[in-house]
Amino acid sequence: MRGNLYILSAPSGAGKTTLLQHLLRSFKELKFSVSYTTRQARNGEQNGVDYFFTDRPTFLSMVDRGEFLEWAEFNGELYGTAQAFVEEHAGAGRDVVLDIDVQGARQVKSKIKNAIAIFILPPSFAELERRLKARRLEPDDVIRRRLEIAKSEITFYREYDYIIINDVLENSIRILESIVRSGAAAPWRHQGRIEEIIASFGGIA
Ligand code: ADP
Ligand code: 5GP
Repeated sequence: MRGNLYILSAPSGAGKTTLLQHLLRSFKELKFSVSYTTRQARNGEQNGVDYFFTDRPTFLSMVDRGEFLEWAEFNGELYGTAQAFVEEHAGAGRDVVLDIDVQGARQVKSKIKNAIAIFILPPSFAELERRLKARRLEPDDVIRRRLEIAKSEITFYREYDYIIINDVLENSIRILESIVRSGAAAPWRHQGRIEEIIASFGGIA
């Protein structure tokens, strides 16, 4: 039995971190894949919890050794998902959630067909701008750059299995939780059990 792989992507500021925190509180057995990145830690971010913060040469040597399931450059920095972590947990039947950008999502979907990709959209551009400013994490020029990137990111929505328009937070949380609950009923999550049941019927007629 393999665990499900959930991919969560969104333009920066759409509310992905907020939704992910709720999801991880509701589903204690979900494993969050901590990515590697070359970007600087922001205030309050912890190494090994939010990201594994690393330098460019170390990251690139991991690329050379084939240690990433996917990796991409975002806003001049490198980000990647450790293959070993995903394999260890999904291989043991545990569900894994990835917080990755649209380039990474495309790579994972091409390698793992059953991955369940969810895209979070803000209700409008103006609201995205308002949220980024209200968060007060970055200077204006960084916010402007993130808004520019968002304009191209949203065009990738068609490659996702689910879209959540994050307007009223409580509704979005409910939708995200429903997606993860439905994922538990996917056939590949129950392969061993299904085979036992079919065997108890004397096999397939
Ligand atoms: P992301 O991880 O996508 O960059 P965050 O989760 O940090 O975004 O959210 C950006 C800001 O928007 C935060 O201040 C957060 O509290 C707020 N926010 C998230 N979801 C909503 C929502 N549905 N309505 C209003 N504000 C929201
Ligand atoms: P931030 O710098 O705001 O934490 O993240 C910037 C973007 O990088 C977000 O879209 C986030 O989802 C994405 N990201 C984080 N980790 C990874 C990863 O491992 N791979 C890829 N491709 N993108 C990532």
